[in-house]
Amino acid sequence: MWKIKNSNLATSTPLSLENVTSCLTDYDPESLRVEDGKEIIKTFSEVIASKLTIEKLPIRDALGRVLAIDVISPINVPSHDNAAMDGYAFDSKILSSGQEQIIELKISGQIFAGNKVLTKQSNDTCYQIMTGAVMPLNCDTVIPQEFVEVCENKIRFLNTNVKPRDNRRLKGEDLQFGNSALKAGKILRPSDLGLLASLGMPEVNVFRKLRVSFFSTGDELKSLGESLPEGCVYDSNRYTIFGMLKRIGVEIIDLGVIPDDPALLEKAFISASSSSDVIITSGGVSVGEADHTKSVMKKLGDVDFWKVAMRPGRPMVFGKIWPDSDRISENYSLLFGLPGNPVAVMVTFYVFVREAIFQMMGSSEFESQLVLVKSAESFKKKPGRTEYRRAKILKDHDNCPQIKLTGAQGSGILSSMSEADCLVVLDHDIVSVKAGDLVPILVFDGLI
Ligand code: AMP
Ligand code: MG
Repeated sequence: MWKIKNSNLATSTPLSLENVTSCLTDYDPESLRVEDGKEIIKTFSEVIASKLTIEKLPIRDALGRVLAIDVISPINVPSHDNAAMDGYAFDSKILSSGQEQIIELKISGQIFAGNKVLTKQSNDTCYQIMTGAVMPLNCDTVIPQEFVEVCENKIRFLNTNVKPRDNRRLKGEDLQFGNSALKAGKILRPSDLGLLASLGMPEVNVFRKLRVSFFSTGDELKSLGESLPEGCVYDSNRYTIFGMLKRIGVEIIDLGVIPDDPALLEKAFISASSSSDVIITSGGVSVGEADHTKSVMKKLGDVDFWKVAMRPGRPMVFGKIWPDSDRISENYSLLFGLPGNPVAVMVTFYVFVREAIFQMMGSSEFESQLVLVKSAESFKKKPGRTEYRRAKILKDHDNCPQIKLTGAQGSGILSSMSEADCLVVLDHDIVSVKAGDLVPILVFDGLI
Protein backbone atom coordinates (compact mmCIF):
# COMPACT_ATOMS: atom_id res chain seq x y z
CA MET A 1 0.00 0.00 0.00
CA TRP A 2 1.19 3.51 -0.67
CA LYS A 3 1.01 6.26 1.88
CA ILE A 4 0.44 9.96 1.71
CA LYS A 5 4.03 11.19 1.78
CA ASN A 6 3.45 14.75 2.96
CA SER A 7 2.11 14.53 6.49
CA ASN A 8 1.50 18.32 6.55
CA LEU A 9 -0.91 18.03 3.66
CA ALA A 10 -3.98 18.16 5.85
CA THR A 11 -3.03 21.56 7.21
CA SER A 12 -1.77 23.09 3.97
CA THR A 13 -4.36 24.71 1.72
CA PRO A 14 -5.95 24.32 -0.71
CA LEU A 15 -6.67 20.65 -0.20
CA SER A 16 -7.52 19.34 -3.64
CA LEU A 17 -7.76 15.79 -4.84
CA GLU A 18 -4.94 16.49 -7.23
CA ASN A 19 -2.76 17.73 -4.36
CA VAL A 20 -3.45 14.62 -2.36
CA THR A 21 -3.21 12.06 -5.11
CA SER A 22 -0.05 13.61 -6.58
CA CYS A 23 1.61 12.89 -3.23
CA LEU A 24 0.90 9.22 -3.74
CA THR A 25 2.90 6.75 -5.71
CA ASP A 26 0.93 4.68 -8.24
CA TYR A 27 -2.43 6.45 -7.88
CA ASP A 28 -4.78 4.77 -10.32
CA PRO A 29 -8.47 5.68 -9.95
CA GLU A 30 -9.27 2.88 -12.40
CA SER A 31 -7.97 0.26 -9.98
CA LEU A 32 -7.78 1.52 -6.45
CA ARG A 33 -7.06 -0.65 -3.44
CA VAL A 34 -9.48 -0.31 -0.54
CA GLU A 35 -6.74 0.80 1.87
CA ASP A 36 -5.61 3.48 -0.57
CA GLY A 37 -9.11 4.87 -0.97
CA LYS A 38 -9.39 5.02 2.82
CA GLU A 39 -6.08 6.84 3.06
CA ILE A 40 -7.22 9.56 0.63
CA ILE A 41 -10.57 9.96 2.41
CA LYS A 42 -8.78 10.18 5.76
CA THR A 43 -6.76 13.20 4.64
CA PHE A 44 -9.93 15.12 3.78
CA SER A 45 -11.87 14.00 6.87
CA GLU A 46 -9.06 15.18 9.14
CA VAL A 47 -9.46 18.72 7.81
CA ILE A 48 -13.20 18.78 8.54
CA ALA A 49 -12.57 17.41 12.04
CA SER A 50 -10.06 20.18 12.74
CA LYS A 51 -12.73 22.83 12.10
CA LEU A 52 -15.68 21.46 14.06
CA THR A 53 -17.15 23.77 16.66
CA ILE A 54 -17.82 22.68 20.24
CA GLU A 55 -21.06 22.70 22.22
CA LYS A 56 -21.81 22.10 25.90
CA LEU A 57 -24.58 19.58 26.52
CA PRO A 58 -26.31 18.00 29.52
CA ILE A 59 -24.60 14.64 29.89
CA ARG A 60 -27.65 12.56 28.86
CA ASP A 61 -27.82 14.42 25.54
CA ALA A 62 -24.13 13.72 24.97
CA LEU A 63 -24.58 9.95 24.61
CA GLY A 64 -22.91 8.81 21.38
CA ARG A 65 -21.29 12.22 20.83
CA VAL A 66 -17.56 12.87 20.63
CA LEU A 67 -15.86 14.46 23.62
CA ALA A 68 -14.19 17.70 22.50
CA ILE A 69 -12.06 18.60 25.54
CA ASP A 70 -10.28 16.33 28.04
CA VAL A 71 -12.21 15.93 31.29
CA ILE A 72 -9.98 16.52 34.31
CA SER A 73 -11.23 15.03 37.54
CA PRO A 74 -12.33 17.83 39.95
CA ILE A 75 -12.61 15.39 42.88
CA ASN A 76 -11.39 12.01 44.07
CA VAL A 77 -13.78 9.12 43.37
CA PRO A 78 -14.42 7.69 45.87
CA SER A 79 -13.84 10.76 48.00
CA HIS A 80 -12.89 8.70 51.12
CA ASP A 81 -11.63 5.24 51.92
CA ASN A 82 -14.80 3.19 52.35
CA ALA A 83 -16.06 -0.31 53.06
CA ALA A 84 -16.44 -2.72 50.14
CA MET A 85 -18.55 -5.17 52.19
CA ASP A 86 -21.02 -5.13 55.04
CA GLY A 87 -18.99 -6.14 58.12
CA TYR A 88 -16.78 -4.75 60.87
CA ALA A 89 -13.99 -2.22 60.41
CA PHE A 90 -10.86 -2.45 62.52
CA ASP A 91 -7.13 -1.69 62.54
CA SER A 92 -5.14 -4.50 60.87
CA LYS A 93 -2.25 -4.11 63.35
CA ILE A 94 -4.05 -6.59 65.58
CA LEU A 95 -3.61 -9.26 62.85
CA SER A 96 0.19 -9.29 63.25
CA SER A 97 0.48 -12.93 64.33
CA GLY A 98 0.77 -15.49 61.50
CA GLN A 99 -0.79 -18.20 63.62
CA GLU A 100 -4.44 -19.10 63.66
CA GLN A 101 -6.12 -17.34 66.50
CA ILE A 102 -9.49 -15.98 67.56
CA ILE A 103 -9.74 -12.20 67.60
CA GLU A 104 -12.21 -10.52 69.88
CA LEU A 105 -13.19 -6.85 69.48
CA LYS A 106 -15.66 -4.56 71.17
CA ILE A 107 -18.22 -2.86 68.89
CA SER A 108 -17.93 0.91 69.27
CA GLY A 109 -20.88 1.78 67.06
CA GLN A 110 -22.43 1.56 63.61
CA ILE A 111 -21.49 3.47 60.46
CA PHE A 112 -23.92 3.75 57.55
CA ALA A 113 -23.23 4.91 53.99
CA GLY A 114 -23.49 8.69 53.98
CA ASN A 115 -22.39 9.14 57.64
CA LYS A 116 -19.55 11.54 58.37
CA VAL A 117 -15.98 10.34 59.03
CA LEU A 118 -15.49 8.97 62.53
CA THR A 119 -12.19 9.42 64.32
CA LYS A 120 -10.47 7.65 67.11
CA GLN A 121 -11.09 4.29 68.71
CA SER A 122 -8.82 2.04 70.74
CA ASN A 123 -7.08 -1.03 69.28
CA ASP A 124 -9.41 -3.62 70.71
CA THR A 125 -12.54 -2.07 69.23
CA CYS A 126 -14.27 -2.11 65.86
CA TYR A 127 -17.23 -0.47 64.12
CA GLN A 128 -20.04 -2.25 62.40
CA ILE A 129 -19.86 -0.78 58.89
CA MET A 130 -22.10 -0.95 55.79
CA THR A 131 -20.93 -1.15 52.18
CA GLY A 132 -19.95 2.31 50.93
CA ALA A 133 -19.70 3.83 54.42
CA VAL A 134 -16.56 5.88 55.16
CA MET A 135 -13.87 3.95 57.02
CA PRO A 136 -13.11 5.33 60.50
CA LEU A 137 -9.78 7.16 60.47
CA ASN A 138 -7.64 4.52 62.14
CA CYS A 139 -9.27 1.47 60.53
CA ASP A 140 -7.97 -0.10 57.33
CA THR A 141 -9.65 -3.52 57.17
CA VAL A 142 -13.18 -4.90 57.05
CA ILE A 143 -14.07 -8.42 58.15
CA PRO A 144 -17.26 -9.45 56.29
CA GLN A 145 -20.19 -10.10 58.64
CA GLU A 146 -20.49 -13.74 57.51
CA PHE A 147 -17.12 -14.55 59.17
CA VAL A 148 -18.11 -12.99 62.45
CA GLU A 149 -19.82 -14.29 65.54
CA VAL A 150 -21.60 -11.50 67.43
CA CYS A 151 -22.03 -11.88 71.13
CA GLU A 152 -23.66 -9.01 73.02
CA ASN A 153 -21.43 -6.01 72.31
CA LYS A 154 -18.49 -7.98 70.92
CA ILE A 155 -17.44 -9.81 67.76
CA ARG A 156 -15.22 -12.86 67.43
CA PHE A 157 -13.55 -14.07 64.24
CA LEU A 158 -10.68 -16.21 63.05
CA ASN A 159 -7.69 -14.05 61.99
CA THR A 160 -7.10 -16.25 58.89
CA ASN A 161 -10.46 -15.16 57.43
CA VAL A 162 -9.13 -11.71 56.62
CA LYS A 163 -5.88 -10.10 55.49
CA PRO A 164 -4.74 -6.56 56.33
CA ARG A 165 -6.51 -3.95 54.16
CA ASP A 166 -9.10 -6.43 52.80
CA ASN A 167 -12.53 -5.18 51.76
CA ARG A 168 -11.59 -1.53 51.78
CA ARG A 169 -11.87 0.78 48.77
CA LEU A 170 -9.28 3.52 48.61
CA LYS A 171 -9.93 7.21 48.20
CA GLY A 172 -9.38 8.11 44.49
CA GLU A 173 -8.92 4.48 43.41
CA ASP A 174 -11.40 5.01 40.54
CA LEU A 175 -10.62 8.62 39.54
CA GLN A 176 -7.95 10.80 41.04
CA PHE A 177 -8.32 14.53 41.60
CA GLY A 178 -6.43 16.46 38.88
CA ASN A 179 -5.94 13.48 36.59
CA SER A 180 -7.44 13.04 33.14
CA ALA A 181 -10.71 11.11 33.48
CA LEU A 182 -11.75 11.09 29.80
CA LYS A 183 -9.71 12.02 26.74
CA ALA A 184 -10.97 14.26 23.93
CA GLY A 185 -11.92 12.19 20.89
CA LYS A 186 -13.76 9.56 22.90
CA ILE A 187 -17.25 8.59 21.80
CA LEU A 188 -19.35 8.87 24.96
CA ARG A 189 -20.94 5.57 26.00
CA PRO A 190 -23.28 4.76 28.91
CA SER A 191 -20.28 4.09 31.19
CA ASP A 192 -18.92 7.56 30.37
CA LEU A 193 -22.21 9.24 31.31
CA GLY A 194 -22.01 7.41 34.64
CA LEU A 195 -18.38 8.39 35.07
CA LEU A 196 -19.15 12.07 34.42
CA ALA A 197 -22.03 11.88 36.87
CA SER A 198 -19.71 10.32 39.47
CA LEU A 199 -17.53 13.42 39.08
CA GLY A 200 -20.54 15.64 39.71
CA MET A 201 -20.48 17.06 36.17
CA PRO A 202 -23.93 17.90 34.77
CA GLU A 203 -22.60 19.06 31.38
CA VAL A 204 -19.86 18.11 28.97
CA ASN A 205 -18.15 19.62 25.90
CA VAL A 206 -18.75 17.72 22.67
CA PHE A 207 -18.20 18.44 19.00
CA ARG A 208 -21.25 19.62 17.12
CA LYS A 209 -23.20 17.05 15.15
CA LEU A 210 -22.16 16.50 11.57
CA ARG A 211 -24.86 17.27 8.98
CA VAL A 212 -25.24 14.59 6.35
CA SER A 213 -27.52 14.86 3.29
CA PHE A 214 -28.35 11.95 1.07
CA PHE A 215 -30.43 11.12 -1.96
CA SER A 216 -30.99 8.28 -4.38
CA THR A 217 -30.64 8.68 -8.13
CA GLY A 218 -32.38 6.74 -10.86
CA ASP A 219 -35.43 6.99 -13.14
CA GLU A 220 -36.46 3.46 -12.14
CA LEU A 221 -36.78 4.27 -8.42
CA LYS A 222 -40.15 4.58 -6.75
CA SER A 223 -40.75 5.90 -3.26
CA LEU A 224 -42.87 4.11 -0.69
CA GLY A 225 -46.55 4.73 -1.25
CA GLU A 226 -46.15 4.90 -5.04
CA SER A 227 -47.27 2.10 -7.35
CA LEU A 228 -44.55 -0.01 -8.93
CA PRO A 229 -44.71 0.07 -12.73
CA GLU A 230 -42.96 -2.62 -14.75
CA GLY A 231 -39.16 -2.24 -14.71
CA CYS A 232 -39.14 -0.11 -11.56
CA VAL A 233 -37.92 -0.88 -8.04
CA TYR A 234 -38.68 0.63 -4.69
CA ASP A 235 -35.90 2.85 -3.37
CA SER A 236 -34.39 0.82 -0.54
CA ASN A 237 -31.04 2.61 -0.32
CA ARG A 238 -32.51 5.66 1.37
CA TYR A 239 -33.67 3.40 4.17
CA THR A 240 -30.44 1.48 4.68
CA ILE A 241 -28.45 4.73 4.53
CA PHE A 242 -30.88 6.35 6.97
CA GLY A 243 -30.45 3.41 9.36
CA MET A 244 -26.67 3.42 9.18
CA LEU A 245 -26.50 7.20 9.69
CA LYS A 246 -28.98 7.08 12.56
CA ARG A 247 -26.73 4.68 14.41
CA ILE A 248 -23.77 7.03 14.02
CA GLY A 249 -25.83 9.88 15.46
CA VAL A 250 -25.46 12.58 12.83
CA GLU A 251 -28.03 15.15 11.73
CA ILE A 252 -29.78 13.51 8.79
CA ILE A 253 -31.16 15.38 5.78
CA ASP A 254 -33.10 13.10 3.39
CA LEU A 255 -33.44 14.71 -0.05
CA GLY A 256 -35.50 11.89 -1.59
CA VAL A 257 -35.20 10.30 -5.01
CA ILE A 258 -33.76 12.41 -7.82
CA PRO A 259 -34.44 11.24 -11.40
CA ASP A 260 -31.63 11.02 -13.97
CA ASP A 261 -32.17 14.64 -15.01
CA PRO A 262 -29.19 17.04 -14.99
CA ALA A 263 -31.17 20.10 -13.88
CA LEU A 264 -32.83 18.28 -10.97
CA LEU A 265 -29.57 16.62 -9.98
CA GLU A 266 -27.78 19.96 -9.99
CA LYS A 267 -30.50 21.48 -7.81
CA ALA A 268 -30.25 18.56 -5.37
CA PHE A 269 -26.46 18.83 -5.15
CA ILE A 270 -26.58 22.59 -4.58
CA SER A 271 -29.21 22.20 -1.88
CA ALA A 272 -27.28 19.35 -0.23
CA SER A 273 -24.01 21.20 -0.35
CA SER A 274 -25.39 24.42 1.10
CA SER A 275 -26.88 22.60 4.09
CA SER A 276 -24.47 19.80 4.97
CA ASP A 277 -20.93 18.72 5.70
CA VAL A 278 -21.29 15.44 3.83
CA ILE A 279 -23.35 14.34 0.83
CA ILE A 280 -24.05 10.69 0.15
CA THR A 281 -25.65 9.63 -3.12
CA SER A 282 -26.43 6.18 -4.40
CA GLY A 283 -26.61 5.04 -8.00
CA GLY A 284 -25.60 6.64 -11.24
CA VAL A 285 -21.86 6.11 -10.91
CA SER A 286 -21.39 2.77 -12.65
CA VAL A 287 -19.97 2.35 -16.14
CA GLY A 288 -22.73 2.42 -18.72
CA GLU A 289 -24.93 4.70 -16.67
CA ALA A 290 -26.62 7.60 -18.36
CA ASP A 291 -23.82 9.97 -17.42
CA HIS A 292 -25.94 12.71 -15.81
CA THR A 293 -24.99 12.15 -12.20
CA LYS A 294 -21.31 11.97 -12.98
CA SER A 295 -21.32 15.06 -15.19
CA VAL A 296 -23.18 17.13 -12.57
CA MET A 297 -20.75 15.97 -9.88
CA LYS A 298 -17.88 16.99 -12.12
CA LYS A 299 -19.43 20.38 -12.86
CA LEU A 300 -19.98 21.27 -9.19
CA GLY A 301 -17.02 19.66 -7.59
CA ASP A 302 -13.49 18.41 -7.37
CA VAL A 303 -14.18 14.69 -7.68
CA ASP A 304 -12.51 11.49 -8.74
CA PHE A 305 -14.31 8.50 -10.20
CA TRP A 306 -12.92 5.38 -8.65
CA LYS A 307 -13.05 1.78 -9.59
CA VAL A 308 -12.23 0.25 -6.26
CA ALA A 309 -10.73 -3.26 -6.25
CA MET A 310 -13.46 -4.61 -4.02
CA ARG A 311 -16.59 -6.72 -4.15
CA PRO A 312 -19.32 -5.75 -3.78
CA GLY A 313 -19.04 -2.05 -4.55
CA ARG A 314 -16.63 -1.33 -7.37
CA PRO A 315 -17.69 2.08 -8.76
CA MET A 316 -17.53 5.02 -6.41
CA VAL A 317 -17.05 8.77 -6.46
CA PHE A 318 -15.18 10.76 -3.86
CA GLY A 319 -14.42 14.45 -3.61
CA LYS A 320 -15.73 17.87 -2.70
CA ILE A 321 -18.87 19.64 -3.89
CA TRP A 322 -19.42 23.40 -3.63
CA PRO A 323 -22.85 25.01 -3.47
CA ASP A 324 -21.80 27.72 -5.92
CA SER A 325 -19.62 28.08 -8.98
CA ASP A 326 -17.16 30.38 -7.13
CA ARG A 327 -15.95 27.34 -5.20
CA ILE A 328 -15.08 29.34 -2.11
CA SER A 329 -12.67 26.87 -0.61
CA GLU A 330 -14.10 26.60 2.92
CA ASN A 331 -17.68 26.19 1.86
CA TYR A 332 -17.76 22.66 0.52
CA SER A 333 -19.23 19.27 1.40
CA LEU A 334 -17.45 15.95 1.10
CA LEU A 335 -19.13 13.76 -1.47
CA PHE A 336 -19.46 10.00 -1.33
CA GLY A 337 -21.10 8.82 -4.56
CA LEU A 338 -21.90 5.20 -3.75
CA PRO A 339 -22.95 2.50 -6.19
CA GLY A 340 -26.66 1.80 -6.59
CA ASN A 341 -26.87 -1.89 -5.78
CA PRO A 342 -28.44 -2.29 -2.33
CA VAL A 343 -25.66 -4.41 -0.79
CA ALA A 344 -22.88 -2.48 -2.53
CA VAL A 345 -24.23 0.73 -1.00
CA MET A 346 -24.14 -0.77 2.49
CA VAL A 347 -20.69 -2.30 2.12
CA THR A 348 -19.12 0.89 0.72
CA PHE A 349 -20.80 2.84 3.51
CA TYR A 350 -19.37 0.54 6.17
CA VAL A 351 -15.93 0.45 4.58
CA PHE A 352 -15.45 4.11 3.61
CA VAL A 353 -18.19 6.41 4.85
CA ARG A 354 -18.77 5.27 8.43
CA GLU A 355 -15.13 5.59 9.46
CA ALA A 356 -14.82 8.93 7.67
CA ILE A 357 -17.89 10.33 9.45
CA PHE A 358 -16.56 9.24 12.85
CA GLN A 359 -13.25 10.88 12.00
CA MET A 360 -14.96 14.08 10.83
CA MET A 361 -16.91 14.14 14.11
CA GLY A 362 -13.57 14.35 15.91
CA SER A 363 -13.41 10.75 17.09
CA SER A 364 -9.99 9.33 17.80
CA GLU A 365 -11.43 5.80 17.61
CA PHE A 366 -12.85 6.02 14.11
CA GLU A 367 -11.34 2.87 12.63
CA SER A 368 -13.72 -0.08 12.71
CA GLN A 369 -12.45 -2.99 14.76
CA LEU A 370 -12.16 -6.36 13.08
CA VAL A 371 -12.22 -9.53 15.16
CA LEU A 372 -10.92 -12.95 14.17
CA VAL A 373 -13.43 -15.78 14.12
CA LYS A 374 -13.16 -19.35 12.82
CA SER A 375 -14.78 -20.07 9.47
CA ALA A 376 -17.16 -23.04 9.44
CA GLU A 377 -16.66 -23.56 5.72
CA SER A 378 -14.13 -23.35 2.90
CA PHE A 379 -14.49 -20.87 0.10
CA LYS A 380 -12.51 -19.45 -2.79
CA LYS A 381 -11.80 -15.87 -3.70
CA LYS A 382 -10.22 -14.05 -6.65
CA PRO A 383 -6.91 -12.37 -5.79
CA GLY A 384 -6.51 -8.66 -6.55
CA ARG A 385 -9.57 -7.34 -4.75
CA THR A 386 -10.91 -7.10 -1.23
CA GLU A 387 -14.10 -9.08 -0.77
CA TYR A 388 -16.79 -8.68 1.84
CA ARG A 389 -18.95 -11.76 2.41
CA ARG A 390 -22.16 -11.70 4.42
CA ALA A 391 -22.12 -14.18 7.30
CA LYS A 392 -23.78 -15.20 10.51
CA ILE A 393 -22.00 -15.91 13.78
CA LEU A 394 -22.95 -19.33 15.12
CA LYS A 395 -21.59 -21.66 17.83
CA ASP A 396 -19.56 -24.82 17.11
CA HIS A 397 -19.78 -28.04 19.23
CA ASP A 398 -17.49 -26.48 21.84
CA ASN A 399 -19.68 -23.38 22.04
CA CYS A 400 -16.99 -21.32 20.28
CA PRO A 401 -18.10 -18.70 17.74
CA GLN A 402 -17.70 -19.49 14.06
CA ILE A 403 -19.03 -17.87 10.90
CA LYS A 404 -21.16 -19.31 8.13
CA LEU A 405 -22.00 -17.43 4.91
CA THR A 406 -25.63 -16.43 4.54
CA GLY A 407 -26.21 -17.72 1.02
CA ALA A 408 -26.33 -15.82 -2.27
CA GLN A 409 -23.77 -13.02 -2.24
CA GLY A 410 -24.90 -10.95 -5.27
CA SER A 411 -24.63 -7.20 -4.77
CA GLY A 412 -28.38 -6.75 -5.18
CA ILE A 413 -29.38 -9.45 -2.68
CA LEU A 414 -30.41 -7.61 0.43
CA SER A 415 -31.97 -10.69 2.08
CA SER A 416 -28.57 -12.32 2.70
CA MET A 417 -27.41 -9.01 4.20
CA SER A 418 -30.46 -8.90 6.43
CA GLU A 419 -29.78 -12.45 7.58
CA ALA A 420 -26.11 -11.68 8.28
CA ASP A 421 -24.70 -10.23 11.46
CA CYS A 422 -21.22 -9.54 10.14
CA LEU A 423 -19.10 -9.05 7.03
CA VAL A 424 -16.15 -11.36 6.51
CA VAL A 425 -13.27 -9.24 5.22
CA LEU A 426 -11.08 -11.10 2.74
CA ASP A 427 -7.94 -9.10 2.00
CA HIS A 428 -6.77 -8.11 -1.47
CA ASP A 429 -4.29 -10.96 -1.94
CA ILE A 430 -6.15 -13.85 -0.31
CA VAL A 431 -7.23 -16.65 -2.67
CA SER A 432 -9.06 -19.06 -0.40
CA VAL A 433 -10.27 -19.78 3.10
CA LYS A 434 -10.25 -23.28 4.58
CA ALA A 435 -12.77 -24.54 7.11
CA GLY A 436 -11.25 -23.86 10.54
CA ASP A 437 -9.19 -20.83 9.38
CA LEU A 438 -9.52 -17.64 11.39
CA VAL A 439 -11.03 -14.84 9.32
CA PRO A 440 -11.43 -11.13 10.20
CA ILE A 441 -15.02 -10.02 10.57
CA LEU A 442 -16.74 -6.67 10.93
CA VAL A 443 -19.60 -7.16 13.37
CA PHE A 444 -22.75 -5.12 12.67
CA ASP A 445 -24.03 -4.87 16.24
CA GLY A 446 -22.42 -4.32 19.57
CA LEU A 447 -23.20 -2.96 22.97
CA ILE A 448 -21.73 0.44 22.16
P1 AMP B 1 -26.74 2.06 -10.71
O1 AMP B 1 -25.54 2.12 -9.83
O2 AMP B 1 -27.52 3.32 -10.74
O3 AMP B 1 -26.36 1.58 -12.08
O4 AMP B 1 -27.70 0.97 -10.09
C1 AMP B 1 -27.31 -0.37 -9.98
C2 AMP B 1 -28.48 -1.21 -9.59
O5 AMP B 1 -28.94 -0.82 -8.32
C3 AMP B 1 -29.68 -1.10 -10.50
O6 AMP B 1 -30.28 -2.37 -10.61
C4 AMP B 1 -30.57 -0.14 -9.78
O7 AMP B 1 -31.94 -0.30 -10.13
C5 AMP B 1 -30.32 -0.48 -8.35
N1 AMP B 1 -30.55 0.66 -7.50
C6 AMP B 1 -30.02 1.89 -7.68
N2 AMP B 1 -30.43 2.72 -6.71
C7 AMP B 1 -31.26 2.01 -5.93
C8 AMP B 1 -32.01 2.32 -4.76
N3 AMP B 1 -32.00 3.54 -4.24
N4 AMP B 1 -32.76 1.34 -4.19
C9 AMP B 1 -32.78 0.12 -4.72
N5 AMP B 1 -32.08 -0.24 -5.82
C10 AMP B 1 -31.33 0.70 -6.42
MG1 MG C 1 -28.98 4.24 -11.94
